[in-house]
Amino acid sequence: MTEDHTLTIGGTRVAPGERRRIEIEVAQPYGPSQLTLSTVILNGRKPGPRLFLSAAVHGDEINGVEIIRRLLRSPRVRHLRGALLAIPIVNIYGFMQQSRYLPDRRDLNRAFPGSERGSLTGRLAGVFMREVVANATHGIDLHTAAIHRSNLPQIRACLDDERTRSLAEAFGVPVVIDANVRDGSLRQAVLERKVPMLLYEGGEALRFDELAIRAGVRGVLSVMAELGMIDPPRRPSTRVVPVVAKSTIWVRADEGGILRIRKKLGAHVQAGDILAVVSGPLGDREETVTSPTAGVIIGRTELPLVNEGDALFHIASFKQQSKAGRQIERFEAELDPDATTSPSGEPPVL
Ligand SMILES: [Zn+2]
Repeated sequence: MTEDHTLTIGGTRVAPGERRRIEIEVAQPYGPSQLTLSTVILNGRKPGPRLFLSAAVHGDEINGVEIIRRLLRSPRVRHLRGALLAIPIVNIYGFMQQSRYLPDRRDLNRAFPGSERGSLTGRLAGVFMREVVANATHGIDLHTAAIHRSNLPQIRACLDDERTRSLAEAFGVPVVIDANVRDGSLRQAVLERKVPMLLYEGGEALRFDELAIRAGVRGVLSVMAELGMIDPPRRPSTRVVPVVAKSTIWVRADEGGILRIRKKLGAHVQAGDILAVVSGPLGDREETVTSPTAGVIIGRTELPLVNEGDALFHIASFKQQSKAGRQIERFEAELDPDATTSPSGEPPVL
């Protein structure tokens, strides 16, 4: 950064008022062509916060790729204060293979901050820190559940930090989880640099989920408005009040078998409610899976084949249980995927 708020990323200068696509070189693969970290920079005419927006850190988590595509086309980001650093596909290797991992079988989100002399995965993490995070004042990383699982749209963040908490509330999804950082995660490396960052989770790997995409587009725009980078919408939607989970637990299969799910994502459940039934593949036995606690289903498996010990449902408990339930209903009604246009003006993915 210079005084006139020109950005230099991957050796390329982006002057105030410029929009540029930059290909940042990362580690050379065995094939003949170079793989790059494709970055779109929107540098506003006026100075302000510099927000990085990343997706597909896990290469098969693609809702965020679509969220960023819609955002970059939105008329609302045309006149920015500050800058948007958009990286729709961080793990290009995994994205090409439809895989969470890199070719060295590592998880990028356990390799941060990485290093230029480390593994292939560590080198990609290092380039991302040097070129993207070092130029940013705030960040949002977009994820989905892992393969064969889906998540209710939710924000994970360290809420002890007041600045992060206000961004988490601005994002406007009903469920916020005050989540500890994992070793080697992007969130940990970014927090160590005192850059406030949110992690958004919504939908399933290798699938588009229209509700999660709409919630992501609207959430990022709301955060940008909260930071003063764009004007607030002219017709603000009735704001969803996020509710912070006090704890979350996974319900696992006590027996292997064929799973029939009885409760949808976002359902409000009581202790003892039947969540699913597991039966033997030949119909020889049948066992119910019940909820050990009251709460809201924020994640679940999508695969009807389960081994003993598999994680089936992720349930969040809240101090104000019924408030959380009401906010989820309001949120789902507002972002109804059957409605013809979304907050970004895009028709739904059907
Ligand atoms: Zn992920």
